[in-house]
Amino acid sequence: MFIKSMIKGLFFNMNPLFERNKHDIIRYNKQLIPIAFIFSLVTILIPMFFSLFRPSMLETLPAYLVIFSVFILLLILFNFKPFHEKPLVFAYTFGIVFFIFVVYLSIDRFQSRPAGTALIFFVVAPIIFVDKPYKINIYLVLMFIIHTILSFQYKTFDIASVDLLNTFISLVAGMLFGRIFLVTRLKNFDIHRALLIERETDFLTGLPNRRSLFEYAQKDTFKAYNYMGLMMFDIDRFKKYNDNYGHLNGDQVLTEFARLLEVFSKTYPVKFYRYGGEEFIGITYNLDKLEIINLANHIKMDTFKLKVPFEQITTSIGVTVTDKTDNIDINDLIEQADKALYSGKNSGRNKVIFYEKK
Ligand code: GH3
Ligand code: MG
Ligand code: MG
Repeated sequence: MFIKSMIKGLFFNMNPLFERNKHDIIRYNKQLIPIAFIFSLVTILIPMFFSLFRPSMLETLPAYLVIFSVFILLLILFNFKPFHEKPLVFAYTFGIVFFIFVVYLSIDRFQSRPAGTALIFFVVAPIIFVDKPYKINIYLVLMFIIHTILSFQYKTFDIASVDLLNTFISLVAGMLFGRIFLVTRLKNFDIHRALLIERETDFLTGLPNRRSLFEYAQKDTFKAYNYMGLMMFDIDRFKKYNDNYGHLNGDQVLTEFARLLEVFSKTYPVKFYRYGGEEFIGITYNLDKLEIINLANHIKMDTFKLKVPFEQITTSIGVTVTDKTDNIDINDLIEQADKALYSGKNSGRNKVIFYEKK
């Protein structure tokens, strides 16, 4: 079972998973940087601490201190914005620094012994961060080559041969495990992403749902815009439509209406949500009072022309707009639009009514 999934993992095409989960991957790598740093600091601090008590180890202390300082420096740099957006640049730089330290230990400090920390490096490095395997592998192979050349240059032939064998096995093991871990992680990202989409999508119409609207529309979501507007749609006498032609035809009306809204969202700065039942909401960006009323009228007219089974439908639309975009209370706007909508219903339906909070 394990072997089978391992072999599958080796030949799995990961490119589509990388494409689909870009954002999750960046977020994951970002989260991992401080953890990797702290983990490395601890692994350096322990031998550093012991070296204080053993005269033979004392010689290594300056090197430990140097790498310790470089790691701290990198961690501080990581908090600055340009670096923060590129976690992998940091991951690779961090790897290089660690590798230099590994080379120092293996080639300079403990020349008469086979490499030790280098083996840990080759096994652990490829399983920490998420990046395309070919990049990680090129990076590791380069380091392997550098270490091997230096080892044959500065160590005895026997020890260098042992190094070659050991580091090669570690390298292959690291690449293998790295790849298997990667497939598992990418699949988890994918499941997480699909769940999020499903949670925020209306099953019938495919539009984002009410939950999605409230999650998106926070107080400062619209602060970059001069205007933010809200349209509330309610299909007229829809209960009667259902009663006369059945629920399935009613469902088709809702789907067709959603398609119509989507067409508008391609040409206007507006995003639509299914609010519930036969009610929909449109959020507009940078449309002023007149522009949003025009858009609503356009949708109202196209709704009447919409091809649906049996009988034309109409919609009433309540509209509101605000220029106080740095502090939006979406419930407030919904309340305004709702009032406008119901005044539209009371004045005969198939109407666009605008309300503005004074
Ligand atoms: P008004 O013009 O005042 O809006 O009248 P109305 O009949 O549209 O309003 P009402 O709120 O009384 O009825 C809404 C109807 O929408 C009731 C319900 O059967 C129908 N409805 C809600 N969700 C769905 C759905 O998912 N599919 C179908 N087919 N009908 C739905
Ligand atoms: Mg209703
Ligand atoms: Mg209705």
